[in-house]
Amino acid sequence: MDCIFCKIIAGEIPVTKLYEDDDMIIIKDIDPKAKNHFLCIPKSHFKLLKDMTQKQSEQLSNCLKKIPQLEKELELVNGYRLIINQGDDAMQSVFHLHIHILSGQKMNWQQA
Ligand code: 5GP
Ligand code: ZN
Repeated sequence: MDCIFCKIIAGEIPVTKLYEDDDMIIIKDIDPKAKNHFLCIPKSHFKLLKDMTQKQSEQLSNCLKKIPQLEKELELVNGYRLIINQGDDAMQSVFHLHIHILSGQKMNWQQA
């Protein structure tokens, strides 16, 4: 499958890796949108939450459980933002579901 995140998971593309286990990999985003911008990528390939199987939803749940446990490594102490872009209007550009993790600064919250 021609998926850049599957290639990253397979170790075929160099990345800055913060964390990895059987369910996920957490890397630095190549084009940061905040002081810290990480991506938590579940290892199973699917694009949309609506396509998710039960097993994939358990994997995603493990991702959400793990992220706050990495408070120091991801610099989450003063707060952070999680984003999952879904489809065209959200400008999803990689069709392998992933959680953006933004931290390390005060963030705006305004209408798009
Ligand atoms: P999306 O737009 O699909 O929500 O987010 C995709 C994210 O993946 C973008 O923030 C983009 O910068 C990041 N990205 C795309 N290709 C690579 C890559 O090869 N390495 C890393 N570390 N991030 C990537
Ligand atoms: Zn993939």
